[in-house]
Amino acid sequence: MQAPKGTEDLFGEGARAWDAMQQTAREVFGRYGYEMAETPTFEMREVFERGIGEATDVVSKEMFRALSGDAFEKVAAGTPLKSAQDLALRPEGTAGIVRCAVQNGLVTPDGPVAKLMYAGPMFRGERPQKGRLRQFHQIGAECLGAAEPTADAEMIVMLIEFFEAMGIPRDAMRLLINSMGDDACRPAYRETVRAYIHEHSDELCEECNRRADINPLRAFDCKNDRCAEVMEGAPKISDALCDDCREHYEAVKRYLDLVGIGYVEDPRLVRGLDYYTRTVFEVQATDALGLGAQNALGGGGRYDKLVEVMGGRPAPGIGFALGFERTRIALEAIGALSGAARPLDAFVATVDPSCDDAGFAIVQALRAAGLAADIDHQGRSLKSQFKQANNRGARVAVVVGPDELAAGTCTVRDMQTHDERTVPIADVATAIVSE
Ligand code: AMP
Repeated sequence: MQAPKGTEDLFGEGARAWDAMQQTAREVFGRYGYEMAETPTFEMREVFERGIGEATDVVSKEMFRALSGDAFEKVAAGTPLKSAQDLALRPEGTAGIVRCAVQNGLVTPDGPVAKLMYAGPMFRGERPQKGRLRQFHQIGAECLGAAEPTADAEMIVMLIEFFEAMGIPRDAMRLLINSMGDDACRPAYRETVRAYIHEHSDELCEECNRRADINPLRAFDCKNDRCAEVMEGAPKISDALCDDCREHYEAVKRYLDLVGIGYVEDPRLVRGLDYYTRTVFEVQATDALGLGAQNALGGGGRYDKLVEVMGGRPAPGIGFALGFERTRIALEAIGALSGAARPLDAFVATVDPSCDDAGFAIVQALRAAGLAADIDHQGRSLKSQFKQANNRGARVAVVVGPDELAAGTCTVRDMQTHDERTVPIADVATAIVSE
């Protein structure tokens, strides 16, 4: 049996890398006041349709639908589904977190800011390639209820700080920022882009032409080289921002300057999802990190309309998500992936089967004392048990033999120096800890 295309099993080094990334995120984001939240991996499809936008590729083409066997039969028989049965695997984390915050009253117009973080698998039916999977893992943070530009700057600084804490040097990352405007200025800007696309329709791909009517700004995201060239000449949002948006954007940049975070302003950075307003940002890996075309390590933006769209009373929000798989590739490229298995403190070796009971009791006592300890479960020879102890990096071997047992003792052998000493069984944990 094979794992499905575009998925990756995580075990050994990979699982340790995922664990380390979550720990670093908890540590770094925790210092900024974030707490972990866990939402379901599937939601009603409507949550994503509303929250991300029906016109996005993520929702219209890439979303994995999830149906119970019952609901599947209904669909096959042509019976329409109730929305509660019409489920989808989450393609990203924000829609679910905002749904959760609204449903549980975590964000209210006059209430305090809610800072939530998450980590887990996301699902998109994309064409798999290096750094692009169908099940991948994201870590994200969402700050709900904060409208001030300090929140935008804090979010960006926190993302950079995370990558640095993981071991990616600042000069191996590029921070792109932009403002996408808001309800006051974006609609008019959209129209100018739509008109530009229509003017250049014969130079642009079919997809961009199709996008012109539903979501013209997405044409900036087109991977086609010719389209990218043509879109270079399109009107820039930076020239179309209203005063409030411009002021907000200037303040975000000022705060970034204040703490010495360098950035590149990219007026064509329009992030894929529909819900962004004002600040958007992306952290890209430089070429040295070997990610090729999929060089976005993480990104996010402000979404001041999303809480309302999800049925809550209006409240602003901002967040980001970063990708585990791409960060792992980057860390591997610079040799910064630390991921050795935890070495054992002690391996308990038994001389013959008459010592099995004592061995089992001793290894449990060691674990209870907080030591990493293991024992042979395959009835192997003493020699093989020492080999296992070595392979597992054990600091000491605790040898249990019939003669020592009769005297209530065992032998603690230093695996490096091979020094041995006899220790009462009752004291073995203390003896190893204090060594
Ligand atoms: P997005 O939710 O599209 O803004 O993506 C945020 C981050 O998740 C990206 O910067 C990537 O690191 C990661 N990511 C997005 N899509 C994929 C995918 N299909 N496979 C692997 N990582 C992904």
